[in-house]
Amino acid sequence: MTDDKPEIPPCWICQKPAIGIGASSMGAISGPYCQECADEGREPWFALVAGMMGLERGSVHEGLTPIIEATLKFYDKTEDDLWEDVERTDREYGELMEKEEKERDGQAIEWFGDDD
Ligand SMILES: [Zn+2]
Repeated sequence: MTDDKPEIPPCWICQKPAIGIGASSMGAISGPYCQECADEGREPWFALVAGMMGLERGSVHEGLTPIIEATLKFYDKTEDDLWEDVERTDREYGELMEKEEKERDGQAIEWFGDDD
């Protein structure tokens, strides 16, 4: 314990030592970035996928292009891989919401049933 600085977890993209916690360009999340990933404008894969949910291919804001390109390059993936993941996550999220809605309906029925 010779260092008073709070320990920063490794970069959440490449696992190298991070220089600090930064806000993701993809949304209301933040995490540790190393110098290289911060310079390149990379984002963690999950953050990129989450940030693109609900978007249509071809209608992505051009401001995101450098982030997408840097992240694809780092993960050695293609744009097709990205959209596949975005669409799958969109679908899974939709199914999850549907399931939760059904569960809520079930609980409501139970609740009203117990009321009497
Ligand atoms: Zn990094």
